[in-house]
Amino acid sequence: SFSRQGPNARPHPRFRSCNLAQQFPHFTDFRLDSRLIRALGHLGLDTPTDIQQDAIPVVLAGHDLMASSKTGSGKTLAFLLPALHRLLKTRALGKRDPRALILAPTRELARQVFGQLRALTGGSGLDIALLLGGENFNDQLKTLRKQPQVIVATPGRLANHLDARSLLLHNLELLILDEADRMLDLGFAPQLEQIHQAADHRRRQTLLFSATLDHAEVDHMATRLLKAPKRVAVGEAH
Ligand code: ADP
Ligand code: MG
Repeated sequence: SFSRQGPNARPHPRFRSCNLAQQFPHFTDFRLDSRLIRALGHLGLDTPTDIQQDAIPVVLAGHDLMASSKTGSGKTLAFLLPALHRLLKTRALGKRDPRALILAPTRELARQVFGQLRALTGGSGLDIALLLGGENFNDQLKTLRKQPQVIVATPGRLANHLDARSLLLHNLELLILDEADRMLDLGFAPQLEQIHQAADHRRRQTLLFSATLDHAEVDHMATRLLKAPKRVAVGEAH
């Protein structure tokens, strides 16, 4: 759940010294869809964290992105806000297929992302779904028949659904890899490759988040999956 401590328990951005991205001191400065601004208001959030300040404009500009910052720095909203903005502002490429897929390494991390997604999409008209390994496959088939536009999943289970042809990704507009370094450490490279292949078209935007970009396998995966990515690293010399 959201807390006002953590990332925001720090001096007002005006008094911080060494952040170059000072032009977005409030979430309203990003000109996000009003439904997102309203949801942020309900959550009591007004000031973006450093990674959010740096990453959100890059994603809104349509670029692929590789981003890193430490745990607890607010990476989830750094991808959810601009991704949802794009979905709310543009027409779907396909009528029935998912528009955005967010992959996380573990069930617990996927649940946390889904919680923030649900908090932002309530009343927006976007249907969302959570597909975790270890849960009933047939129940997930029923969920998929409702044609959710945004899916949060663990890579293994999502690959199982591709194998079963229970969903198609050929109109996917956004592919987001959260904690990519951990997904690769857990051996999910083949599933990520399979998902990439299933969703490979030129209008896809791909975002990769990681605790570190200084990871050979992450670099290799990014070369395969991302197109001319911008790099944003907070708190690291990159
Ligand atoms: P990370 O993925 O970088 O580890 P999270 O996205 O999980 O971090 O965010 C950590 C916590 O900080 C969450 O409870 C989240 O709700 C909160 N948070 C995120 N962005 C902000 C913000 N701009 N202001 C206040 N709290 C925030
Ligand atoms: Mg995270």
